[in-house]
Amino acid sequence: MFVKPFQKSYSLLQLEVLVKRLMASHEQFSEFQDIYKNRMAGYKGEFSTKYPLSFLPKDDYFIFHNLRLFDGSHYFQLDILVLSIHTAIILEVKNMAGTLIFDIPSHQLIQINRDAKKAFQDPLVQVDRQTNQLEKFLLYHSLPKIPVESVVVISSPSTIIKINHEHPASFENKIIHAVRLPQTISSLEKKHNPQITTLNTIAAMSPIFLENHSELKQDILTKSNLSSKVIKKGVICPKCSAIPMSRKRGFWLCLSCKASYQDAHINALKDYVYLFDPYISNQKAREFLMLSSESATRNLLTSLNVPRIGERKGRLYKIGTLIDN
Ligand SMILES: [Zn+2]
Repeated sequence: MFVKPFQKSYSLLQLEVLVKRLMASHEQFSEFQDIYKNRMAGYKGEFSTKYPLSFLPKDDYFIFHNLRLFDGSHYFQLDILVLSIHTAIILEVKNMAGTLIFDIPSHQLIQINRDAKKAFQDPLVQVDRQTNQLEKFLLYHSLPKIPVESVVVISSPSTIIKINHEHPASFENKIIHAVRLPQTISSLEKKHNPQITTLNTIAAMSPIFLENHSELKQDILTKSNLSSKVIKKGVICPKCSAIPMSRKRGFWLCLSCKASYQDAHINALKDYVYLFDPYISNQKAREFLMLSSESATRNLLTSLNVPRIGERKGRLYKIGTLIDN
């Protein structure tokens, strides 16, 4: 079963909002778009393993997407973790096109795509480190000592995998196409027969992984060295993406496509959370939503039914509760 379902990470959602609201005239606009496209491709690659993983018997496997855990000294991030009574399997997913050469002697991954050649850190090195860290995590939390396996998963079936090693066949279950996930998982489990633990124990361990997941939440503007002045204010039209919409008689009206919506400010406030702050004052909301009236802004903020702290002018609305994570 999918215990922690496939979902975009907080930092990817932040990047999505940044790309949507960064002024197109900004000199790094296309740079941020490229970063977003890459990260989104990574997420799509991970998401595409959902289908092959769905062939595993539902009750026997506990699957977690995007776990970020602390091993006692460092944080580590796992694309996918598959727990069973035999083993814990780390899946590191790569969504890369063209030909991938895993050069084992040099510990490099070389990608050849449309005549361009690029070298990357070998994901096998990465999964080895993750394996150690997951073992430390189990120890740190006094959890059963389950053997940890790791697999590099190439999400696109058209990517060609080449392994530069004397015995390439020895990597058969180490670097795979996503379609081979169920078979690979079952052969890795056979290595650890008989079972190490019970389904009850795995079920009891699952919440510990969830509770210890620590989503990376950074201030994206500071991290990206951007000033709040380069962020577009206003409510975005859900239909045609024009910005800003204008508030007319209790509705948001798009000046571009003439569509009107009652609640279009909610998405804008969610954007505010990802970029700035989970709390907002009346004044900040007025500026960001581009409203002129203090009382109209108060009515909008009150209608959100979110927790409030402080009184009068110092009052803050906890709009962070509008987003899921
Ligand atoms: Zn519109």
